[in-house]
Amino acid sequence: MSAPSLPSRFEPREIEARWQRAWSEAEIFRAPERPAGTPFSFILPPPNVTGVLTLGHMLGNTVMDLLARYHRMSGRPTLWVPGVDHAGLATQVAVRRALSKEGVRLENLPPEAAIAQVEKWRAAHEARIREQTLAGGFSVDWSRYRYTMDPASVRATREAFVRLYRDGLLYRAERMVNWDPRLRTALSDLEVTHSEETGSLVYLQYPWADGSPGGLEVATVRPETIFGDVAVAVHPDDARQASALGREVLVPITRRPIPVITDPAIDPTFGSGALKVTPRHDLVDYEVFQRHPGLPMPPDVIDEGGRLASDWVPEGLRGLDRDSGRLETLDRLRSEGYVLREVPYRHSVARSERSDTVVEPRLSTQWFVRVGPLAEPAVRSVREGRVRIHPDRWTLTFYRWMETIQDWCISRQVFWGHPIPVYHCTPCGHDTVTVDVPEKCETCGASEIVSDPDVLDTWFTSWLWPFAALGWPESTSDLAHYYPTNVLVTGRDIMFFWVARMMMAGEHFTGRAPFSDVYFTGMLRDETGRKLSKSLGNSPDPLDTMRERGADAMRFALLFPNPTDEDGPFGGHTLEGGAHFLTKVWNLVRFTLMNVPAGTPPPGGPPVLSLSSPLEHRWILSRWRRTAEEVDRALAAFEPSRASTALYTFVWRDLADRYVEIVKESLLGRQGEPAAREARETLLYVVERTLRLLHPIAPHLTEELWHAVPHDGELLATARWPAATEAPADPVAELEMETVLETVRLLRNLRAEEHVPLETVPPAWIRPGGPEVARLLERERGTLERLARVHPIEFLAPGATAPAQAASRVAILGECYIERPLSGAEASEALQKERGKIAALLEKTRARLSDEGFRARAPPEVVREAEEKARELAERIGRIDEHLKAEASSSP
Ligand SMILES: [Zn+2]
Repeated sequence: MSAPSLPSRFEPREIEARWQRAWSEAEIFRAPERPAGTPFSFILPPPNVTGVLTLGHMLGNTVMDLLARYHRMSGRPTLWVPGVDHAGLATQVAVRRALSKEGVRLENLPPEAAIAQVEKWRAAHEARIREQTLAGGFSVDWSRYRYTMDPASVRATREAFVRLYRDGLLYRAERMVNWDPRLRTALSDLEVTHSEETGSLVYLQYPWADGSPGGLEVATVRPETIFGDVAVAVHPDDARQASALGREVLVPITRRPIPVITDPAIDPTFGSGALKVTPRHDLVDYEVFQRHPGLPMPPDVIDEGGRLASDWVPEGLRGLDRDSGRLETLDRLRSEGYVLREVPYRHSVARSERSDTVVEPRLSTQWFVRVGPLAEPAVRSVREGRVRIHPDRWTLTFYRWMETIQDWCISRQVFWGHPIPVYHCTPCGHDTVTVDVPEKCETCGASEIVSDPDVLDTWFTSWLWPFAALGWPESTSDLAHYYPTNVLVTGRDIMFFWVARMMMAGEHFTGRAPFSDVYFTGMLRDETGRKLSKSLGNSPDPLDTMRERGADAMRFALLFPNPTDEDGPFGGHTLEGGAHFLTKVWNLVRFTLMNVPAGTPPPGGPPVLSLSSPLEHRWILSRWRRTAEEVDRALAAFEPSRASTALYTFVWRDLADRYVEIVKESLLGRQGEPAAREARETLLYVVERTLRLLHPIAPHLTEELWHAVPHDGELLATARWPAATEAPADPVAELEMETVLETVRLLRNLRAEEHVPLETVPPAWIRPGGPEVARLLERERGTLERLARVHPIEFLAPGATAPAQAASRVAILGECYIERPLSGAEASEALQKERGKIAALLEKTRARLSDEGFRARAPPEVVREAEEKARELAERIGRIDEHLKAEASSSP
């Protein structure tokens, strides 16, 4: 096999598209129907068709692809199931918003036309999501692509509903729910956000019904709800209110008499200590109401659209929406003398996550999942270690939420979603609940049955996904072979919405946890620390990012600076870092190819080295082995960032900057052909195996480079993951190389201190600290000379004196000297030149450091390095200036 040369520039676009096609044509990501060996399987969290993929999605996908490619190369049959989520309410809201910009109200369209509009939206976004996924090079199994509203998902969703209903874990009840009056639907607790806002606490006087002067002081933030009052409640032990007990007061304006009641739940320190009881529009009030069976149930005084309604509301106010209704009611209360005082008041306001409207607590009949019995086995699976959460500090958050979990409201009053499979019989009132759409009532046989008008919360389908996407409730071969899945990778923001619920569903419907590991990715932030978001304009479409820099650079930038459990920065600097690294790998392989003659066989295993083989070969093999071990460990522990950092350090520092520098001479044949061959074999072996290690992170680049170097096999994507133990560990070589590199550092520092111009190669002297160091350094003289750019090195005997014209450095391993550069006018000139170079470098470094974005978000060690460099450069300039000044004053 010949080794073709590579173009000098790395052009990701052409390369990436080409390999994506090759992988697709070879169908290598299609998991076998009957896997041999232990499979590795997982689902792609189906992205919502509400929008397209963000960089946050790309982070999750990159981590998943890293795992998929790693396990596939390790020989495990690997299944990664892609799909998209219909995202019920969220999608309907997105379409509604888009249409309203064109002046069309979604609600006013006939049902078929409305559905068609949402379908059109869905198709467009689904196509875009698919395009983005392909462009990222993610190795999903497209032959198993699923949609949460495809026929199999419909069946799974209905089956789950029916089973829970029959098991008594699903019920319909009138409950106080979170109501979104703009979207006119119930929401689950999780779809509500809470924020502190300033309102006004209004103190009202409810006159005594018997006509005696004065009245009872009642404080409220919602005066527009007084028309739905059925009582005023005080605490039974509240002495201030003792005289009010047993009496009646009048509701202001409408002057309807209501009783004063006592209830232990009333907080006597809040407001006046008297609470108006409006059972249909407040949860606490509803609970008080339930404890007092004698009270009448009022009508809704705020309707489903958020307007004042019913004949309990005075005519002039009826029909107003709640905001203007509040103002008008207050005006009336003020002008009729009911208002005692108004004070500003900070309180928590609940808003709909979907429409940002203030949520209206509303007594409403809805479907609920009884969550308590489902939560128990899910919590147990974590406590018993059958499910592990990474990073594990999220385990506590999981427990806390599961312990206080409330029943889940699953019915939504929207049209986009799975219909609730309940059919109400008009003649006998029975509800038929079945998977297949029934033709008649199962009890009386009447055909006058009406299907439930509501649809299901979108998560009622998603929580089934790890098994539904594999074919449940059918006993499919995929379910038998690939379930339970191995891992779930997702954002921690949907831990409760989704992860916890999947765990409950998995235990209930399949008797097993749906996955054994959960990995939460961090949140991406921009370089000034803000969360990436479309509305801030700091979240580019990943397709643009990939077009500009390539998918591999994006993947590397997402993984590298993102310490496993922390929020990571993403932006120009990280992308640039990713692209630089890939170019470094490209150049490393180009260098290798220039030194590997055509016809060189692929490296079957590591070259056989002996103790007398050059140190650098033994060292790089050992370093490669440690890197491979670290990558294995990091991936087993779900620490993708650690894996990429290990590879980055090895490739950049050890392999490209050190090893290649050292072996250049031997590769050129200057030390004879046997030495050249040993260097070639070692370099080729390490490079080929490193491409394999890098493949899961940068699949396109490595596939391209792997085909350029001598290799065995069709595609790198299906090549074997190298065993770390393949290469020999050599602690002696590592220790020796450390001593050599330490000496190089000393010599380099001397060069810097003495302002030796870059192109000058001065002679140096070393007085080793002991006979062993002496033997080592003398043997590695060539390496020292090349890396420190000094020549020749002369070793001084213990008693010998160093030349007078030398500067020295002392360390444990010995003393180093280099020749001082010239003096006089020639030296000053050279120094001036050097100073100019250093000043330019310093300016560049300082500009970088003064970039707030860089400082805020670059990895801390990179910032530290830059700061150190700036300090060092400034010191060097200072020393040069001193030197020049001394020269100037000493010359006549
Ligand atoms: Zn019936």
